[in-house]
Amino acid sequence: MAQQQLVYSSKINKIRSFALLQVFIGFAFMYGGILSKKIEWLMAIFMIVGLLFVIFSCVVYFWIGMLSTKAVPIVCPSCEKPTKMLGRVDACMHCKQPLTLDKDLEGKEFDEKYNTRKYRKEAKRKAKEYKK
Ligand SMILES: [Zn+2]
Repeated sequence: MAQQQLVYSSKINKIRSFALLQVFIGFAFMYGGILSKKIEWLMAIFMIVGLLFVIFSCVVYFWIGMLSTKAVPIVCPSCEKPTKMLGRVDACMHCKQPLTLDKDLEGKEFDEKYNTRKYRKEAKRKAKEYKK
């Protein structure tokens, strides 16, 4: 088994690189379209697929913009640079330091599962049971 790397990148950065990848894939398809312009239907398919990728990446970029407004700006405790976090757990954009907004999760191992709806429901249920 390959060595497992426990490096978490910030969600905004992840989505951003995903969108960038989409643009490249889109242009690769369009380039394929230019190369195959002798076969009209093939060129059309390449162009349409490429265009869809580019449009989709624009949507993703727009989505990042929306998310960024919702993200909580904080100063990273380990590198002291300003960063933004999404959800209950996220990683610092600069030093990949795992961060949490939830006091209950402090000191716990960083896990993406803390952001899932299922986990939140479970936590709520447990909290209710505890009160009884
Ligand atoms: Zn940091």
